[in-house]
Amino acid sequence: MISAEHLTKRYGSQAAVSDVSFRCGPGTVTGFLGPNGAGKSTTLRMLCGLTEPTSGRATVAGTAYRDLPNPGRVVGVLLDAGAQHPGRSGREVLTLAARVLGVERRRVGEVLDLVGLTGRAPGKRTGQYSLGMRQRLGIAQALLGEPEVLVLDEPANGLDPEGIFWMRGLLREFADRGGTVLLSSHLLHEVEAVADHLVVIGGGSVVADGSKEELLAGSGTLVRGLDGEALSGALARAGLDTTPTSDGALLVDGSTEAVGRAAAAAGVVLLELRQAEGAGLEQLFLTLTHAGAADVHHAAPVEEVAR
Ligand code: ADP
Repeated sequence: MISAEHLTKRYGSQAAVSDVSFRCGPGTVTGFLGPNGAGKSTTLRMLCGLTEPTSGRATVAGTAYRDLPNPGRVVGVLLDAGAQHPGRSGREVLTLAARVLGVERRRVGEVLDLVGLTGRAPGKRTGQYSLGMRQRLGIAQALLGEPEVLVLDEPANGLDPEGIFWMRGLLREFADRGGTVLLSSHLLHEVEAVADHLVVIGGGSVVADGSKEELLAGSGTLVRGLDGEALSGALARAGLDTTPTSDGALLVDGSTEAVGRAAAAAGVVLLELRQAEGAGLEQLFLTLTHAGAADVHHAAPVEEVAR
């Protein structure tokens, strides 16, 4: 269990994070989403005791990170995969970490296998690692102490598509065995496939928080007609609000059935009719990205965009 309660971090007059609260439960993968500069890393650093909150409180497994006697046995953390000693080999990094954590040495081999660092890779200096290999090593280090919680900042950075697919499987399995996973990303689609819970942050504030189903549902209907104008007219007469999409379709505030019936009643030929899953979230994301990090309160909450 991870709990962030009213976390705020100010640097001088600027609030990097404002009143951020959310919870992540066992057995779930939470995607912590937001554009660059939104406040993801600062929040994760506060969760892991690396940044002191200006106000608010964060706990992992019910305890503030800094009060955990051996934190690595409770929470595995990957905040900056680049922050490895370049002169040490991957195996040395893990062997040292294992000693600090007090875990058996054989665990080093286990996690190396688990993250796919095999053959000559574990013996190479990390200075020679690709970013993807460093991410794998960072994930291995996070898993070393067999923690119940994982906190990973942009773990997909530098991984190739096969690596991203592998990581999703690993995190899903970890959660399915009862673990709690919190991973951040600035790319919606990267976490959509693996997360069951999403927390979206923009300009330092949480703008959406809920199950993936909740946030992706209620996004309305996407419809495309042979005669766009006739379709717009038919939907307007049926009292349905529409927003044109960039590629000539219409996003309708209504069910697929309501849209289908309105079109049928007007004799309009449809080329496409489906639930507009994720369109609301996608739109929210675009709004946040365009609003910029400083523009804290101008991003519309997801409920407004999702309709
Ligand atoms: P994200 O991880 O979502 O990209 P960050 O948490 O790194 O965002 O940053 C959020 C905001 O806080 C940014 O505007 C960033 O410039 C600012 N910030 C982060 N760390 C510091 C710091 N140590 N000093 C001053 N400002 C900071």
